[in-house]
Amino acid sequence: VMASMAHLQEEKLRLQEELLGLQEKLAAQENDELSRSLQLQAQVETLKAKLLEQAQEISRLRSELGGTDVEKHRDLLAAENERLRQEMKAYEGELRELRRQQQAPCQDCAHLQENAELQERLSQLQREAEETRAKLVELDLEVQQKTNRLAEVELRLKDSLAERAEEEERLSRRLRDSQETIASLKSQPQQIKYIIKTVEVESAKTKQALCESQSRNQYLQEQVGMQRQVLKEMEQQLQSSQKTAAQLRAQIMMYEAELERAHGQMLEEMQAMEEEKNHAIEEAFSRAQVEMKAVHENLAGVRTNLLTLQPALRTLTHDYNSLKRQVRDFPLLLQETLRSARAGIGQAIEEVHNTNRELLRKYRRELQLRKKCHNELVRLKGNIRVFGRVRPITKEDGEGPEAANAVTFDADDDAVLHLLHKGKQVSFELDKVFPPQASQEEVGAAVRTAGTSRGCSHLLLTLPGPPQVFQEVQALVTSCIDGYNVCIFAYGQTGAGKTYTMEGTAANPGINQRALQLLFSEVRGKAADWDYTISVSAAEIYNEALRDLLGKEPQEKLEIKLCPDGSGQLYVPGLTEFRVQSVEDINKVFEFGHVNRATECTNLNEHSSRSHALLIVTVHGLDRSTGLRTTGKLNLVDLAGSERVGRSGAEGSRLREAQHINKSLSALGDVIYALRSRQGHVPFRNSKLTYLLQDSLSGDSKTLMMVQVSPAEKNTSETLCSLKFAERVRSVELGPVSRKAELASWPSQEQLEVTEGPPGDSPGTAASSSRGHASPSPGQLSGRAASIRRKLQTSG
Ligand code: ADP
Ligand code: MG
Repeated sequence: VMASMAHLQEEKLRLQEELLGLQEKLAAQENDELSRSLQLQAQVETLKAKLLEQAQEISRLRSELGGTDVEKHRDLLAAENERLRQEMKAYEGELRELRRQQQAPCQDCAHLQENAELQERLSQLQREAEETRAKLVELDLEVQQKTNRLAEVELRLKDSLAERAEEEERLSRRLRDSQETIASLKSQPQQIKYIIKTVEVESAKTKQALCESQSRNQYLQEQVGMQRQVLKEMEQQLQSSQKTAAQLRAQIMMYEAELERAHGQMLEEMQAMEEEKNHAIEEAFSRAQVEMKAVHENLAGVRTNLLTLQPALRTLTHDYNSLKRQVRDFPLLLQETLRSARAGIGQAIEEVHNTNRELLRKYRRELQLRKKCHNELVRLKGNIRVFGRVRPITKEDGEGPEAANAVTFDADDDAVLHLLHKGKQVSFELDKVFPPQASQEEVGAAVRTAGTSRGCSHLLLTLPGPPQVFQEVQALVTSCIDGYNVCIFAYGQTGAGKTYTMEGTAANPGINQRALQLLFSEVRGKAADWDYTISVSAAEIYNEALRDLLGKEPQEKLEIKLCPDGSGQLYVPGLTEFRVQSVEDINKVFEFGHVNRATECTNLNEHSSRSHALLIVTVHGLDRSTGLRTTGKLNLVDLAGSERVGRSGAEGSRLREAQHINKSLSALGDVIYALRSRQGHVPFRNSKLTYLLQDSLSGDSKTLMMVQVSPAEKNTSETLCSLKFAERVRSVELGPVSRKAELASWPSQEQLEVTEGPPGDSPGTAASSSRGHASPSPGQLSGRAASIRRKLQTSG
């Protein structure tokens, strides 16, 4: 027993030690557990606080939004959706209304298409809204699910919290128990073993409970973490759904804006259309009004017209009736009118007859007066006129300096021409100068027109300006009808245009033919009162022998004799006279004369330039009313060429010809000079030509000398001579100087030749003073006087 006692003692000591170790361990464990429980309590406390916080947060959110955010959102969206639906419905109603309104007025309007587009757009928007609505429903559902889950989680959290509270409760209770046990064990050391055992058992149990509570705690913590995770996820989901909702809202707003814009556009268009419609209606209305007004006016006009037409119709009917009456009465009226008209006409005829008689009487008196006037005019102008005519430069003049033009004219004075001779300009003044461009036609025209109105032609004589040669020629020709004798001479060197001026060409006749034509027309014009006979003779003087160009024997020389009746008149026995009545007759006579002249010579040109050709026209007139008789002679003379033949070169017949020509031309000059200077004695007998023309040169006869010149440089010497001759004829003064002039003599052709040269060689001649008078110097007078005396003796 003692051993056992000792052993037990030992055991007891060991146990005691062990107990002490366990007690220490326990105390450490208790400390540890305490700290742990404290820790856990703190943890539970914090969790509780968190839970509370979350619960508070949840309640706050609930109270703030009337549920969760999502819910609130959902509600909002639903409300908005509802509103949108309402609006849409309203729009649809409006649209339907609009469509109804539009359908009638503008079926084919341009806005229809736009409308359709808008409708399409609207339907699209509606579709989108529908989709959004569906999405919203989906989201709603999701939110519902999530709220459910949240509620579940909350419930579970609550459960676990309750469980934990319970567990803690239980653990603290056990802790208290175990502390109590330890305390009792300490107070009862006998029962240590047992107690220790109990403690051991209890500590194992406690350990297990601790383990369990620890694991439970772990699990709860995990649960809390999970819950947190879920919460976070949910928050995220909430955020995303919020975002989606915001997006959707923005989209809806956009759609709304678009819808509004479309609506506005539509409204605007509607308004514009409405305005257009109104405008069109207004316009149509105003147009219709205007038209209406016009129609009304027209109607009024038509009405007034009708009103005015009625009286017009009435007057027309009246007129018609009166016309009818007049037509009925017309034959009677006509007869009466005819009767009275006949009586009137008879009376008028009687009056006209009387007037005619009176006029005839006056005309006769005028005729006498005119003749007197004409005579007076001619006397004033002088019976002898000298004209110059310059022919144009022709092919025959050749080319080069010889054919150069040496003649110029004065633009202001048609009676002056200038000749450039040997480098000096010599001027001449005649009664009139015709430049190369003066044509034959003009002659004809002037003669023809003058032929129909003679009175005028005499008036024209006094008018200045237009070319006077034609009127002058015409006046001379017609004065032949009145009983005057006339001579027209063509003077100039061979080739200067004498024959051209007198005879002309077949196409372009000269003075001869035109003069006869004029005579015929004049005679025809006076045929009512006068009987005229016109007869023609043609003669030639060659080498001072007179020959009849129309006779049967042209070569026979004729003599000029004094009329045996003692009248002092000259006549040529045997000179053939043809009576002519028409232009054809004249042409025949001319032809006959030409033929006779041509057969008598070998070279007609040569011959004609060496002889004088005469055409003598005699006009006998008888005034039937008065019995007055007149005889006029027209002598048209184409003179022989005035050129001087060089004395040295010429011999035999050529020399004789030249001498004869010189003699006859000198004689002509003398005669004209004597006549113009009114000398008492005129040397007619000095040549056959002047002797033959004595009747036609003296008394109140008229003479025209047409001096023809060539403008060619090579002919200037002859031109100078011709112009000197012309000027000398012309420059003879009339009246008081006549006595003085009587002493002077006409220079012979030789003298002309001699005086031609430098002015200083022979003073006092025309060459020294071309425009001066031909008054000879005192020194020359004695010699000249002797020659005149000689001439006077020969002329008897
Ligand atoms: P003349 O008779 O003086 O010898 P013509 O009359 O035979 O001279 O003239 C000589 C040439 O000059 C002719 O060929 C003629 O046709 C021409 N002739 C003369 N005068 C004119 C003129 N005024 N116009 C045109 N040609 C003229
Ligand atoms: Mg000739």
